[in-house]
Amino acid sequence: MGGYLEGLACRACDARYPAEVRSICDECFGPVEPAYDEERIRAEVTRGAIEAGPRSLWRYEPLLPATRNTSIDLGDGWSPLRRAHRLGAELGLPNLWLKDETRNPTHSFKDRVVSVALTKAFEFGFDTVACASTGNLANAVAAHAAAGGLHAVALVPADLEPAKLTATAVYGATLVEVDGTYDDVQRLCSEAQEESPWAFVNVGLRPYYAEGSKTIALETAEQLGWRSPDHAVVPVASGALLTKVAEGFRQLWRVGLLDDEPSVRVSGAQAQGCSPVATAFAEGSEEIQPVRHPDTIARSLAIGAPADGHFALQEVRKSGGALDAVSDDEIVEAVGLLARTEGIFAETAGGVTIATLQRLAARGVVRPDEVVVAYITGMGLKTLDGFGTRFGVAATITPELEALAKAVPWEA
Ligand SMILES: *Cc1c(COP(=O)(O)O)cnc(C)c1O
Ligand SMILES: [Zn+2]
Repeated sequence: MGGYLEGLACRACDARYPAEVRSICDECFGPVEPAYDEERIRAEVTRGAIEAGPRSLWRYEPLLPATRNTSIDLGDGWSPLRRAHRLGAELGLPNLWLKDETRNPTHSFKDRVVSVALTKAFEFGFDTVACASTGNLANAVAAHAAAGGLHAVALVPADLEPAKLTATAVYGATLVEVDGTYDDVQRLCSEAQEESPWAFVNVGLRPYYAEGSKTIALETAEQLGWRSPDHAVVPVASGALLTKVAEGFRQLWRVGLLDDEPSVRVSGAQAQGCSPVATAFAEGSEEIQPVRHPDTIARSLAIGAPADGHFALQEVRKSGGALDAVSDDEIVEAVGLLARTEGIFAETAGGVTIATLQRLAARGVVRPDEVVVAYITGMGLKTLDGFGTRFGVAATITPELEALAKAVPWEA
């Protein structure tokens, strides 16, 4: 089993390339992505073999563009899929499940994309890896580079949460703040990709990087008993995660690992301070207008010109899902709701997902009869400043029983 990667294929015109450092098609400038020998996978890969694999995303090695024996695996992925009875009751969704990505090694789903991309960088012989990041990617690149003995350079916009800066630099990565937005950082990295000897995980290695996102859908299906859900609710920054979630269920079906052909409605969540994809959806437009000055506490989603926004929009429309955008206040309230009902402390992006789910459920877009999976992509301790004073101490008292009884009255 193994070696199913055939090379790269253009998503727009299907031109073929070897598995090299490349993100764009020479013929049409479309994005390229890994292509596999799916017929051989279908013949050779069984559920049993996957179930016997490691408790990480590398259990899906046959559907990944890199090999497990050289993998930089910190125990990435294989996160819990939890039935959310209490939150479901609040939202009127009796079949709600949460994929808890806060449990990854650096506490966001970005560990998945980085484990795959850095394994590939190592295979290609790079000794320095780099990224343009809204925070979580920098954390994941820094940690995996450290474990793999690679140098890391992380470029971030200037207004990131302090926790995300510390959680990058601590691993020995070179952290560079750029005076600009994420889109400025991304453009700078595209230029540097051409001139420098570094492997940019979300530029030159983007096709491999994005495949890591797919594993979140593969796991969801396996954890539901090799079934796809009826509705997936996914936060959108560049749009890669949403696009790959949709594709992941279809690929599992094509290679014979699902009993029933998936028909998953896919919905997307954005913050009102940066909602280019949700706005295009609301306006019924094909064009995504870039947001020049993102302004939201959901910094990890603050990409004004999303590289895969167009594909995300298509997936949502084609599947009968929806996109919506929520305010900063709704985000904070939703983080509290999720924590109070399910014991999961999500970062602001998780609040975006839950608040959007709440809206879509209220509008009847997400329905009570559906098996719904919401993706909680990152951890709340990284974005404490985004919550302001909303969650604080109830009282400050002297160490005396009387003071306690006064501050927190109990029934006799
Ligand atoms: C990066 C990120 C996303 C969105 O990922 P894209 O693939 O860029 O759309 C969602 N949630 C969190 C916490 C992230 O860090
Ligand atoms: Zn092409």
